[in-house]
Amino acid sequence: MTIKDFKFAGKKAIVRVDFNVPLNENGEITDDTRIRGAVPTLKHILDEGGALIIMSHMGKPKGKVNPKMSLGQIKDAVAAALNAPVIFAPDCAKAQEAAAALKPGEVLLLENLRFYPEEEGKPVGIEKTDPAYDEAKKEMKARQKEFAKTLASYADCYVMDAFGTAHRKHASTAVIADYFDADHKMLGFLMEKEVQAVDNVLSNIKRPFVAIMGGSKVSSKIGIIENLLGKVDKLILCGGMTYTFAKAHGGEIGESIVEMDKLDVALGVEELAKKNGVELVLGTDSICGDKFSNDANQKTCPSTQIPAGWEGMDAGPETQKKFVNAIKGAKTILWNGPAGVFEFDNFCAGSRAIGEAVAEATKEGAFSLIGGGDSVACVNKFGLADQVSYISTGGGALLEAIEGKVLPGVAAIKGE
Ligand code: AMP
Repeated sequence: MTIKDFKFAGKKAIVRVDFNVPLNENGEITDDTRIRGAVPTLKHILDEGGALIIMSHMGKPKGKVNPKMSLGQIKDAVAAALNAPVIFAPDCAKAQEAAAALKPGEVLLLENLRFYPEEEGKPVGIEKTDPAYDEAKKEMKARQKEFAKTLASYADCYVMDAFGTAHRKHASTAVIADYFDADHKMLGFLMEKEVQAVDNVLSNIKRPFVAIMGGSKVSSKIGIIENLLGKVDKLILCGGMTYTFAKAHGGEIGESIVEMDKLDVALGVEELAKKNGVELVLGTDSICGDKFSNDANQKTCPSTQIPAGWEGMDAGPETQKKFVNAIKGAKTILWNGPAGVFEFDNFCAGSRAIGEAVAEATKEGAFSLIGGGDSVACVNKFGLADQVSYISTGGGALLEAIEGKVLPGVAAIKGE
């Protein structure tokens, strides 16, 4: 079924959204991109005369109730975005009565799904090495089905619109779909759009294809980096991973972030790039700070000659030029992860240079896809959101989709 074709009038729809929005210490939303992303689906259902049951996770509460990650904190923001009152269900697994009482046009927001370990379906408090682990996992999977069945019981149809978690086979993103027939489950508008954007990149790669991968660590991105080396013409690697590469070449990196157990992985990436004829673009100089803070003293050093007491926190001026030149002329661009600690205004120049170069290339006709919470925050911070082709709400999900993997959240609806 598609969301356009389904008749929502008089029906209750349970919609999985990704409201895992960043909050500051006062519980205020600092970036509402994800809420705005889900609005078209949610409004469509209300406008068509349906009732909404909204469910999401927030953070990583690890199967326990944690008030700091309560979705109650964003209830008013959701109400404002939908221009409708929102009823809050403080226990997502005990919302039968509230769901039953819902009338067309009404909205029920369920509490954080991950307050229950059943959502993720991973046994808690037991190590994988424990002989009893397999049994515990089996038991948890059975409980996950029951949990999904409870959520399904609230509604007449299921809409999957949480692209950010579509790469997870969780109770609310995939398992729940088993309790609806094909005519009563569908992707939301955001999911449709995201899947289409990935398709645009993969099915019709216009070259040169330049990928920019940044962020803090090599380890969390190595899968996609290796995969991209089979697809792109140029790969820019920036951010914290710069120093794992510098260290692998025997460089001095001071206090910079590094993964000492990934030095061989870094060298492997360089080798694979050479073998595949991909131009690997790494930073050569860094803006360093003498503490991890916005008001740290600054100096620019070669990325392999950072003195003790200093750490690389942003791409240096020479590196920025190198990155900008590499992006110039690109026809397809994928950007995931900042080039430095962009959250600090004094260390965001590298990320800004990349953002501006991506915007410029887009103006010249490139298709630019930006994904991952941090690069999206970057693009927003620099006011470039409307100068790139597509901003994905997914980080890991986007990268897995680009790798060509079928996302469980999509498979659950389309039966692939
Ligand atoms: P990730 O979650 O791996 O995509 O990383 C995003 C984070 O990487 C952001 O919060 C950045 O502040 C951080 N980051 C980028 N460059 C550096 C760096 N040179 N040192 C420490 N953290 C960095």
